[in-house]
Amino acid sequence: MFKVKPFIKLVILFQLSILLACAQPQKKETKSIESKIKSNMLSKPNNPYYSNTDTTKLVLEDSVWKRILPNDVYEVSRNADTERPFTGKYWNTEEKGTYYCAACGNKLFKSDAKFSSSCGWPSFFEQENKQSVVYKTDNTYGMERIEALCGRCNGHLGHLFDDGPPPTGKRYCMNSIVLDFVPEVK
Ligand SMILES: [Zn+2]
Repeated sequence: MFKVKPFIKLVILFQLSILLACAQPQKKETKSIESKIKSNMLSKPNNPYYSNTDTTKLVLEDSVWKRILPNDVYEVSRNADTERPFTGKYWNTEEKGTYYCAACGNKLFKSDAKFSSSCGWPSFFEQENKQSVVYKTDNTYGMERIEALCGRCNGHLGHLFDDGPPPTGKRYCMNSIVLDFVPEVK
């Protein structure tokens, strides 16, 4: 009798502690995702310049970009690197929502303008507004291409081609790593 009771107590305590340990982080995560979707905004504690609403031009020293961006984002955004095709997060997604610049938060594309392209990078036929994306002639690698850059931070996003679908005939060929996606509120 005396031996059984403490054992049961121990089992109950053990189960309770597992339940608490499992329940707490899950609850936290669900809450933060919900609040992000509700506010339709993201925040990046390491990047104080990041904003989904501020459209003021952002000019920062390279050393600052290096400090506030993750290395893979920095290499594409500031050094015009290209991610390998079929490896990014968004090349094959169709979810409804909005795409923002991962470096500064500028609104770039609506999912309505995304189309399924076999090139292995997320492709859009239209930018969100006139200021979203700006262009520069790119003559690297012996090709003449149009480089597409973020209209707020001037960070490299990808290239613009003329082989897209109607109504624009444009193909914004983007790197997933420099895009943030916020799903539409249902
Ligand atoms: Zn940007």
